[in-house]
Amino acid sequence: MNAHDSEKVVGTLERQGYARVEDEAEAGLILYNTCSIRDKAEQKVFHRLNEYKRLQGEGKKFAVLGCVAQQEGEKIFEKAPYVSLVAGSASYRNLPEMLARLEAGEQRITGLDDRQTDLTFETEFTSRSNPHRGYITIIEGCDKFCAYCVVPYTRGKERSRTSASVLVEARRIVDLGYTEIQFLGQNVNSWRDPSGRMSFAELLVAVGELPGVKRVRFTTSHPRDFTRDIVEAIDATPTLCDHVHLPVQSGSTAVLKAMQREYTREWYLERMSWIKAAKRDISITSDMIVGFPGESDEDFEETVTLVGEVKYDAVFAFKFSPRPNTPAVTMADSIPDEVKAERLRILNDRQREIQREHYGRHLHKVVECMVEGYNSARGQVIGRSSQNKTVNFSMGEFGGEFGVQPPVGSYVPVKVTQTLPNSLVGEAAGLPDVLAIPVARTPDFVVLN
Ligand code: SF4
Repeated sequence: MNAHDSEKVVGTLERQGYARVEDEAEAGLILYNTCSIRDKAEQKVFHRLNEYKRLQGEGKKFAVLGCVAQQEGEKIFEKAPYVSLVAGSASYRNLPEMLARLEAGEQRITGLDDRQTDLTFETEFTSRSNPHRGYITIIEGCDKFCAYCVVPYTRGKERSRTSASVLVEARRIVDLGYTEIQFLGQNVNSWRDPSGRMSFAELLVAVGELPGVKRVRFTTSHPRDFTRDIVEAIDATPTLCDHVHLPVQSGSTAVLKAMQREYTREWYLERMSWIKAAKRDISITSDMIVGFPGESDEDFEETVTLVGEVKYDAVFAFKFSPRPNTPAVTMADSIPDEVKAERLRILNDRQREIQREHYGRHLHKVVECMVEGYNSARGQVIGRSSQNKTVNFSMGEFGGEFGVQPPVGSYVPVKVTQTLPNSLVGEAAGLPDVLAIPVARTPDFVVLN
């Protein structure tokens, strides 16, 4: 989400006549886009800003954007007086006006008061830097207020774009040569069409049916808003990727309640049963937090058993860390760090065992891979399957006499010859299907994540 915000900010700046430079030392304006989802984000941001001190010079300006900007607000001016602009993501649509004030010499410009806006940041001037995937933010903000999460406080309330606007952007992305589109939202499936024309599942299908689209992905979904028609849409529409990332966070209903997730273990497992009953083999991945305040050994054991029951294709597990301004900050952090670390180890070990066994289902099968890059040391192509698995493969006889590698963004059928706990290994089973390759954009100025 943040990387795509940067793409939109870059596009906005280009539109204003800015040009990008390769080296931040040469930049007249440095924008630092920040994320506060992880522990110690603020310290990292101030550490980086401190490094910028050495870059101060005649007329050079600094801006801090994103969630840490929103969270720390004007404190940033105190700690880093050379910063002239501090803006949260809900204010990005006002960037042209804020940049004009910056150019006029204003020293302390803030964009921090827009979190209750109904407006989204829409721009037709996105400078897309991902070489193979076109991102579309369909919904901003979040109304869920999970007890541990900073997003509703930094990104503001939920606001959806109209289906018409999303479809216009999707067509524009296809015209640029992208064949894979990813919908983004903190809570992507909470999307509600302000024009009332489409459901989320219908929007997925409408974009999946656009000529030129080969793959549609969406992240991140919330179990509360996960409806059966999403599974039906994936089943019926080959361009919708067979992958659902549905974070459960904990397998214990008591912990889910404390987290304010508003569902139970059983509710979540019912959604898993819909996905597993699909005709397509839909891969399921999740995020999990261990050591949330009050999580008992029994609660944690329920998370471990849930992982075994669902058989995820990947789990992104983290130790709980309190984020500023969230309700969890005031809960006693009753779990010592060593216990959190041990639980994380147990969970990751269990998940690794599952993946080692579960990935075996792909052996000897042919999967279509989109080329994302190359491992030159191994002479392999790095691809991604529709199920979102990394597939490292050689072109073999399909590389031709000179071992030609297929271009990034092309699709290659790959026969899986080996399965590893985190990836697949294979060999090309056909020539690349070069439909259209996105036009690479030269970076013109510095935006750092
Ligand atoms: S739904 Fe996601 S973004 Fe919203 S508060 Fe919960 S964890 Fe944060």
